Amino acid sequence: MSATPFARLAELGEQLEATTKRTEMAELLAGLLRDLALEEVPPAVRMTIGQVFPEWDERALNVSWKAVKAVVDDLHAASPAAQEAAGRQAVDGGEYIYLLLSEHRRQPPDPPALGLLEVYQAFEGIAATSGRGSVARKEALLRKLFGRASAVEAKYLAKIIYQEMRHGVSEGIMLDGIARAAGVKSRLVRRANQLWGDVGEVALVALAQGEAGLKEASLRLFRPLKPMLAQTAEGMAEAFEQLNGQLALEYKLDGARVQIHRQGDQVRIYSRNLADVTASLPDVADEVRARMRAGEAILEGEAIAVDAQGRPLPFQHLMRRFRRKHAIAATLAEVPVRLYLFDALYVNGESLVDAPYEARWAALAAAAGDLGLVPRLLPATAEAGEAFAETAYRDGHEGVMAKALGSAYNPGVRGKAWLKLKHVHSLDLVVVAAEWGYGRRHGWLSNYHLAALDADTGEYRVVGKTFKGLTDAQFQEMTERLLALERARKGNAVLVQPRVVVEVLFNEIQDSRQYPSGLALRFARISRIRDDKRATEADSLQTVRQLYEQQFRYKGQVRSGGS
Ligand code: AMP
Repeated sequence: MSATPFARLAELGEQLEATTKRTEMAELLAGLLRDLALEEVPPAVRMTIGQVFPEWDERALNVSWKAVKAVVDDLHAASPAAQEAAGRQAVDGGEYIYLLLSEHRRQPPDPPALGLLEVYQAFEGIAATSGRGSVARKEALLRKLFGRASAVEAKYLAKIIYQEMRHGVSEGIMLDGIARAAGVKSRLVRRANQLWGDVGEVALVALAQGEAGLKEASLRLFRPLKPMLAQTAEGMAEAFEQLNGQLALEYKLDGARVQIHRQGDQVRIYSRNLADVTASLPDVADEVRARMRAGEAILEGEAIAVDAQGRPLPFQHLMRRFRRKHAIAATLAEVPVRLYLFDALYVNGESLVDAPYEARWAALAAAAGDLGLVPRLLPATAEAGEAFAETAYRDGHEGVMAKALGSAYNPGVRGKAWLKLKHVHSLDLVVVAAEWGYGRRHGWLSNYHLAALDADTGEYRVVGKTFKGLTDAQFQEMTERLLALERARKGNAVLVQPRVVVEVLFNEIQDSRQYPSGLALRFARISRIRDDKRATEADSLQTVRQLYEQQFRYKGQVRSGGS
């Protein structure tokens, strides 16, 4: 079979952009897959959805828009006015490039036409370019690619580089296309993708080996799985109802999710986004080597920062560990981290993802050895559950997770088998400014600056911002109300007289360098507009400070140093 030209992928992109029907898209994708040589399949599949490498792959292109623009600018002779017009008309970088090259290209693309595999290999080359002089070397590689690309091919090169596909083909639709092309059950394709985290490889196995190959799919050590996710439940009663009373409760710790892969002395730790974070958590890796009983396992848990007494520290502190690529000895001592395990996906040759929660917990308890498990309870009643949630909060944690006893581990799925119940606080705050929204909220004042009155100085101090919680009608109404209270404009913000009071829910109060108040609400959202309250009746900055201090009744605190 002769090599597939890259133009085929660009053409497909255009066809996909022209339809919004899921089945039509899947059929178009299947059409491409049937035409490809096997070695072309993985890169073609990934590039079609705007990926070059699988999610767990550490490689990245790291190409700036400036570099692409410099390369493209040498290929066209558009006047500054034409460039500006293209900029206004285009919805993204890819389209901008298309507009310039389709009408103002200086000379036809250099021969020969780009091959699909060749483009992928060029991307691999770009990703492998690092260190001194890499900017210039990357630019030279881009120059070769774009020099040979037609306008529409250049559009798709840029879209792949910036992961800006706008044709609406999600990973899900691609999986449907793969199932069609290979004539296999969609369920098997999805399953393999959950386990391998690479649509490209799934497509290859589906096409080359059919259902037999997919059925053999199992998880692999040192290939992180997408984590199973949780929905939110409003309260314990709701959690009991949704899970038919068949649930376990676990502390919900506010740290970093870790997926630990171990084979003998080899230990790697992956983040929620499948990045390898072992270098930031060398102490955790050592602990795993020393204390885990199972020689081979994939376990999941949460790593949290703790103070000298072992009490949990606010989330901010943990982030200091991840800011640098390698945790140096000083940060290790400064931010001690403790691991709490809560799931087992694989132990000593046995995959557990399909096993029910209870069986996985039993396997976890056996595999963990001396590593700590997250505190948990099988509550008989909602009241017992409430009491456990209260203890979790008093131990300084965020809340609890409710998990269905019979549920399998569904990688990457935010289903109803896991429900999170967070401890929520509320404050009545005053809107002192608002920013004009964009996208769907265009034309509305939608990002509200929330302030509390400093009783000592009589000034309002901002403690957070949010655009969450209001309906479209409420945005509209707020915009009118705030414009009537306008005092001044500053950039994109309208400063208003402090009149409108809103009830704000949030999860935690953090230290802040951004706001002069020194405090910032975490996960703030407006729960209602308090027309019944005057600004003077809203909560004061002193109350916010008090709440901040109270958090440390249960949590640890690091006062010196800051973050
Ligand atoms: P959220 O990030 O708010 O959607 O909450 C889900 C996150 O809570 C998970 O990704 C974990 O990082 C974290 N978490 C903390 N404790 C647990 C637990 N016991 N079980 C599962 N996830 C937990």
